[in-house]
Amino acid sequence: MPKAEFRMKIYGVRGSYPPTNGFATHFGVNTTCIRFDIGKHLIVFDAGTGIINLGNDLLKEIKNGNSRQNLWKIHLFFTHLHIDHLMGFPYFSMIYIPQTELHLISPRILVYSLKDSLEMLMSPALFPVTMNELPSRKIFHDLAENRVVFFLEDDFQIVHVTDAPSVKNWIGKISCIRNYTHPKGGTYIYKVEFQNNHSVVFATDVEGFVGGDQRIINFARGADILIHDAQYTLREYEMFQGFGHSTYEMACEIAKKAEVKKLLLFHHDPKHDDAELSELEMKAREIFPETYMASENMEFNF
Ligand SMILES: [Zn+2]
Ligand SMILES: [Zn+2]
Repeated sequence: MPKAEFRMKIYGVRGSYPPTNGFATHFGVNTTCIRFDIGKHLIVFDAGTGIINLGNDLLKEIKNGNSRQNLWKIHLFFTHLHIDHLMGFPYFSMIYIPQTELHLISPRILVYSLKDSLEMLMSPALFPVTMNELPSRKIFHDLAENRVVFFLEDDFQIVHVTDAPSVKNWIGKISCIRNYTHPKGGTYIYKVEFQNNHSVVFATDVEGFVGGDQRIINFARGADILIHDAQYTLREYEMFQGFGHSTYEMACEIAKKAEVKKLLLFHHDPKHDDAELSELEMKAREIFPETYMASENMEFNF
């Protein structure tokens, strides 16, 4: 791993479920999971099947003696609690290790808390190990639009947005806005900011508006990278309007209006093969030249 203090690595790019017919070799098969390294802090968004490979990487890094970072302390954020964003959790090796301190940070979606949802997922009817039986330490934190997470040199704290200006010496900052376009409770869009003014906005499972969603445009303004849902082609969108996903045209419009530096199209439909995704990438570049299909193992240093 390079020495930069602020890194992002993508472990899962798919929406709905991992493609099952073996055609997706270039962009990847795993569902949502993104890793950030901010100083010594490890931050993860969503526990789709991509988190399984992340667990393997972390064990390797620990074995190889990565002492610069605290890899036992994991800050796991969730955009929402649909199964494609949770399905890797029971297979995330770090949860089975007693040294792991897992901070589970999520806004509430509908009446279900993250704790309720994970307990459901790991209930005896569905999985052989329950949450209570996991040897790792688990600490749940509530997040909302009016709260901000700050990463300091050695620790992190969650404060009310009105107290945010009083937090000094932060090296990383995570804020969110709620988006209501995704069915049954919506989803949370996150912004990860680093002290050197670089930032990434992660907006998956969102559906576009005519003219672009003004709130996302404002939230993402000037970001280095916008990761935006682009599950459907325009033709598919006509069939699945209201399902809470976007087209590349919608994503490009947001990127353009928010004047971000780079757009990563995300939440690829499991039915789209490599050739189709490459074609969509080319078409998207006609609208917003700095557009890339998100792919597994993409890494960025800031
Ligand atoms: Zn999804
Ligand atoms: Zn969803």
